[in-house]
Amino acid sequence: MVIKCLQCGNNDIRTAVINSMGGQGPDLLPGTGFFTHAKFEIGVCSICGYVHWFVRQEDIEKVKNSKKFKNKYDIYK
Ligand SMILES: [Zn+2]
Repeated sequence: MVIKCLQCGNNDIRTAVINSMGGQGPDLLPGTGFFTHAKFEIGVCSICGYVHWFVRQEDIEKVKNSKKFKNKYDIYK
């Protein structure tokens, strides 16, 4: 998570962990498990509202191991 807002430099970032799928919504982190699906951590700047959007640190390996996510160099082959 960022320490300062990337837009305005404010250091009051409000964070929350949110699901990457659910209900009728799209699966934004496909292939990262069903019951143990990877989650996002978002941080909203309390001044300008800029949203910093990350995969939760402990879920990055799930994304790396997902067959749905390819290395950027493999996409253009
Ligand atoms: Zn800001």
